[in-house]
Amino acid sequence: MDRSFSSFPELVLEAVTKNVCVKPFCTTCGALEFRRSLQTLRQSVQVCLRDIDIETLVQVQRWDEALRIAYGELSFDQQREVVQRWLEQAQLPLRFADVVVFTLFEI
Ligand SMILES: [Zn+2]
Repeated sequence: MDRSFSSFPELVLEAVTKNVCVKPFCTTCGALEFRRSLQTLRQSVQVCLRDIDIETLVQVQRWDEALRIAYGELSFDQQREVVQRWLEQAQLPLRFADVVVFTLFEI
């Protein structure tokens, strides 16, 4: 992907539109292009995920898979900070909360 993105949802939308693989643990490509594209975010992955517009993200196809990949790029401390910020949101969409609990935390 040949441009930079100001937000994570914007990046995911572009990736899905261009059929860039966002499959976590993809045995064919390792979602390498998508992983690399995370570097085109204008802020760090940590900041972009922390300040994510959740309502916008959950409208994008395959957002949960893309989020799982990006979240996996963070250190444990960064993951903690990001999740704390998400949980401070009063209106956390249920579908998003589900993905956090069952996919990211793998409870
Ligand atoms: Zn792949």
